[in-house]
Order: sequence, then C-alpha cells, then structure tokens
Amino acid sequence: SSIFAAVEMAPRDPILGLNEAFQADTRAEKVNLGVGVYYDDNGKIPLLAAVKIAEEQRQKLAPPRGYQPIEGAVAYNKAVQTLLFGANSALVDAGRAVTIEALGGTGALRVGADFLNRLDPKAKVYISDPSWENHRALFEAAGFEVGTYPYYDASTRGVNFSAMLEALNSYAAGSIIVLHACCHNPTGADLTLAQWQQVIDVIRSRNLVAFVDMAYQGFADGIEADAAPLRLFADSGLEFFVSSSFSKSFSLYGERVGALTVVTADRETSARVLSQVKRVIRTNYSNPPTHGGIVVATVLSDPNLRAQWEDELAGMRDRIRLMRTQLVERIAAAGVTRDFSFVIQQRGMFSFTGLTAAQVEQMKDAHGIYAVSTGRICLAALNSRNIDAVAKAIASVIA
Ligand code: PMP
Repeated sequence: SSIFAAVEMAPRDPILGLNEAFQADTRAEKVNLGVGVYYDDNGKIPLLAAVKIAEEQRQKLAPPRGYQPIEGAVAYNKAVQTLLFGANSALVDAGRAVTIEALGGTGALRVGADFLNRLDPKAKVYISDPSWENHRALFEAAGFEVGTYPYYDASTRGVNFSAMLEALNSYAAGSIIVLHACCHNPTGADLTLAQWQQVIDVIRSRNLVAFVDMAYQGFADGIEADAAPLRLFADSGLEFFVSSSFSKSFSLYGERVGALTVVTADRETSARVLSQVKRVIRTNYSNPPTHGGIVVATVLSDPNLRAQWEDELAGMRDRIRLMRTQLVERIAAAGVTRDFSFVIQQRGMFSFTGLTAAQVEQMKDAHGIYAVSTGRICLAALNSRNIDAVAKAIASVIA
C-alpha cells in the first residue's frame, strides 16, 4: 500500500481558499479584499523605484553568489537594528541586540519560536484575540501550547485594554506574549504609548517574555513613530524578541526579507544567544538568500535611496488613508446611517468592518466582492475604480 495511505487532506488555508474562489470568479467587476498585500491605484503590486535602482546597481556589479553567513549580511542586520531602535541607540551600542536575517517575518517568528522552545518547551505562548492566523500555527508547530489574551472589543471597535492587562497579570512567569508593534492584523486597533508602557510594566513585574511582531513599520504614522513602542521596550532594560518583515514596507513579498532581533542583557549574553540562534538556522535552512537582504541594506544605507524609499512608503501609507476616508464617505453617501468613522481610526492595511460572515457571503454572491469571513477587509486593495462598488455593496448588505 502507499506510504501515504494514512495521510489526510489538511484543512484549506482560509485566505488562500478565498483567493482560489476569487480567481475562479468570472465576473469582471470582482474585487478581492481578502489579501494582505498593498496594491497601487492601478490594482498592481508596486516595484518601488528605490528597490529597482538598488537591484540595477547590484546587477551591474554581477557579484558571485557565495553563501551568506548563517546570520545573514552584517550591513543588513545593522540596518534593521537602526530601523528598530534609531540611529543612536544605547541598547545597540552596548551590544545588547542580536539580529539575524530571516525568511520574511514568518521565518523570523519561526526561528525565534524554535529558539524559545529550546529554552523552555513548557512555557505557554499567548497571542491576541484575534491575531494573524499564522501566529498560533507557527508557535504550535514549534512545540508550544498557545492561548489567547483578550484584545479586540467589538462593541467599542477598540482594544479591551483592562481585560488584556488583567490577563497578562495572571500568566505564569516565563510565558511568551506575542504583541503587534503597530497596524494590528486583523483589527487595525493599536495600543496607545501609555498603554504600551503599562504592558511593559506588567511584563517586567510578572517576568513574561515579549515577542513583538513588526510587520508593518511605516504603515501607521511613519518609520520612527511606528517604532515608538520598541523604543519603550529598549528604555525598559528588559530582554525581548522582535520579528521584522519588509514584505510590505519594501513591497518585496516574494523575496522573503525579514529579521529576528533578540535583545539581551549584555554583550556577553548576546554572543551566547547568537551562537544558539545560529544552530537553529543551520539545521533548518543553513543561511538566508542573498538578494532581498542586500537590496534592503543598499536602500537603507544610501541617503538618496533611503529618502526615495521613505517617500514611496509615505505614498503607500497616504493612499491607504485616503481609501479609509473615501470608503467612509461613500458608505454614508450610499444612505447608510450606521457610523463607519471607526474605519478612519484603524491603522495599517486592514479594517475590521463589523460585517457578519453572512454579510460577507452576500457581498461575494451578489457583488463579486471577496472579504475574510471575520469581516476583515484590506484597504490597500481599494482603488479609485472599485471603491464605489465596494461602498455600495457594503451599504446593500447591511441595509
Ligand atoms: N506578522 C504579521 C502580523 C503579518 O500580518 C504578516 C504577514 N502578513 C507576517 C507577520 C509575515 O510576514 P512575511 O510575509 O514577511 O512572512
């Protein structure tokens, strides 16, 4: 018999399943709001000019393709630390940050999870309720038991902060808390800086381990502003983990560019930690690919390219904001009296619209507009040609 006879069909990834259904839909007016990707006003994934120039420079040099070090390129890892902690970081200067180049934000989370599991396989991991759906799967795959802490409050469309804090206060020492640095996926609801400080205080007093996921740096208020929670962590003196993704901020999804940064107590601890994180990598994929990391490092270290990139990133951020205000205006113009202004307050690529699964289904069936059944829509998939249709469809399904 087949060695695969006992292999059962795995459940379909809900978002990829949505994409397949969208592809198969023959209606010309169809719109896919289910994805987590930034599209420009023409509905295309942009190739940023700064990226293109850096790629052309590299192409001209035609460098040989030797292996990278296990931890990736030094210039890249330094550049990541500067994005996270600023140009003059005492933490970085003290040798407290260990950064390794990873295969996207997902790869960074997984290397961090595998390393943490070797330190304490019995620790419990807590993710926000709700969270990016891969957080749970990824930490479970690394061997952890995963629970949730209260986060989103549908009645206020904001964070239920008192419930969150109470939960954090009840967890056993050593528990790992996965936090979204900004642009919370899927809700778009972020903590205020004052709330971050309270979270940090509880993490310290309860001896918890923070794992901050930074997948959208630059998409809320800007590169520096979005790193403000990390700067509070840096000031706290705590040890913590950060995963970075450049999939969205550099529009380099398929190149798999990310990084894991582990902040330790001191330089000596950093050396020991790096040696063990390298073992995790070596036995997994050995070393990261060259292209994406070098492109990102080139852009971040060249003042002209860096300015160009910041401009382009601001352009993406501003376009999403415009789509937020226009969607709210057009839903109201379509005769809806329910207040949708919360969409303007939410940050990042997503909005939790409050649409029910049945309403989402109806949008798909009647209008060819695809969203996640939780009511999450991607604002970056809206554009000047489809936004009217989307607003009218929302109006019609909630009527
Ligand atoms: N964390 C969050 C919160 C995300 O939304 C995503 C991707 N959408 C990731 C991590 C993973 O990013 P990457 O595609 O770079 O692996």
